[in-house]
Amino acid sequence: TINRTQREYSPAVKAALARAPQLYINGEWVDSSGGATIDVEDPSSGKVIAQVVEATDKDIDRAVAAARTAFDDGRWRELPPIAREKIMHKIADLIDAHADELAELEAIDVGKPKGMAGVVDVPGAAAHFRYMAGWAGKIGGETQAPYSMPGGMMFAYTLKEPVGVCAQIVPWNFPLLMACLKIAPAIAAGCTTVLKPAEQTSLTALRLADLIHEAGVPAGVVNIVTGYGHTAGDRMVKHPDVDKVAFTGSTEIGKLINRNATETLKHVTLELGGKSPVVVMPDVDVASTAPGVAGAIFFNSGQVCVAGSRLYAHKSVFDQVVEGMAATADFWAPRASLDPEGHMGPLVSKEQHERVLGYIDAGKRDGASVLMGGDAPASDGGYYVNPTILTDVNPQMSVVREEIFGPVVVAQRFEDLDEVVRDANDTQYGLAAGVWTKDVSALHKIASKLKAGTVWGNCHAMIDPALPFGGYKESGIGHEQGRLGLEAYLETKSVLIKL
Ligand code: NAD
Repeated sequence: TINRTQREYSPAVKAALARAPQLYINGEWVDSSGGATIDVEDPSSGKVIAQVVEATDKDIDRAVAAARTAFDDGRWRELPPIAREKIMHKIADLIDAHADELAELEAIDVGKPKGMAGVVDVPGAAAHFRYMAGWAGKIGGETQAPYSMPGGMMFAYTLKEPVGVCAQIVPWNFPLLMACLKIAPAIAAGCTTVLKPAEQTSLTALRLADLIHEAGVPAGVVNIVTGYGHTAGDRMVKHPDVDKVAFTGSTEIGKLINRNATETLKHVTLELGGKSPVVVMPDVDVASTAPGVAGAIFFNSGQVCVAGSRLYAHKSVFDQVVEGMAATADFWAPRASLDPEGHMGPLVSKEQHERVLGYIDAGKRDGASVLMGGDAPASDGGYYVNPTILTDVNPQMSVVREEIFGPVVVAQRFEDLDEVVRDANDTQYGLAAGVWTKDVSALHKIASKLKAGTVWGNCHAMIDPALPFGGYKESGIGHEQGRLGLEAYLETKSVLIKL
């Protein structure tokens, strides 16, 4: 039997949990203007382990004012770019130096295995700062040689300028990684920011504030506030002193935020939900493909925006592929996040637990068959759901159409390429897709036909800070990462001078 009891926390993590709930504003830890706090749970046990501030409108106004002043007085954007670069490398080095503590904090806050946080979340967080640090000194406009226009000689050039004050809002599935993915391009560009982590998972973003401070980021450049979306987040999005909103989260809230931000014509980038297809062609090596496509959905308990949640396997290999996936049940069996044997933890919250089990029940009611899992394992607390494979599904079922955001894959057979491309694209989402085949030509053909911002071949969820990441259709607007991710924090100004 699997032991789902959470283990004892390390001294560094206990110290982080024991801190008084405060906000990081203008380079200082400050109390909230109200007294309210939000309980933080360890999803492996369901126990409350800490409190964070529930920020008020006044707190948000204070954070935005600090970011506004820090932007307007040039203390950051007018530094030599190489100085910004150096500080950003220092942040990355400090993340590395605290890797073990950050991985544990993330593990007990989100419910993900500490080992996974240590190889994915924490190194990824540092990588975003290192990649964007390299851009800080390489931002420049264009010039032309002087030329004649009616009326005289002209000299013209473009300036790349930071957009200004940013409001950045992130979800609970990769809290530290998402915070770094947002802050790094903003400060590389010379912007200042107010970042709000999700109310369920604020611990690593708060610890990141310490490291940003220690690295020498001037006061007010990065402010970290905690609180609820419909109050604190809403205030950030609507604030008149905010120039840009960057949001990662659900499509539903993304649409609302887009409407609110557009009221005052703020710049907006949105990274939203997905229901990503994974296509398995008839020529695959089943022994290596089946564990790969299982990982595409069960990684991070399926709480991944790019999770490979719709499997389309060619009818000639379908049975072998799903049986191969089912053979990974022991590997993915949910365990407490500090269990060194674990590869999958619980879901993040009671709410998600109910939501995911609700989808599984709806699938069963609609006639789907459960090939693996389909329920919650016995446990004396915590929000565990067994990795689940549903077959005998059809495109009308909610389990096929809607983002479940849990360890649930719907598996379907296909016969020909046109059919699978059509089915894979039959969704409101367009975040990512995967194709598994040895046929390189077929892979390129399918990749070009799939309506998705990212297509993986023979792998899944590989993220590189140098490659742009963004959604087609209702999966988002704009890009993060890569040069495009930096550009999202820059304005372009044309200057024309009559000589
Ligand atoms: P969510 O949309 O409920 O919340 C995300 C964040 O938005 C939280 O910080 C929340 O406090 C805040 N928020 C909520 N209401 C708000 C409002 N009215 N105004 C301002 N802020 C508000 O999403 P979630 O449940 O935390 O996360 C899961 C979703 O995130 C999934 O749909 C997933 O696909 C998506 N996601 C997308 C990506 C991506 O890059 N595309 C990455 C990770 C997660």
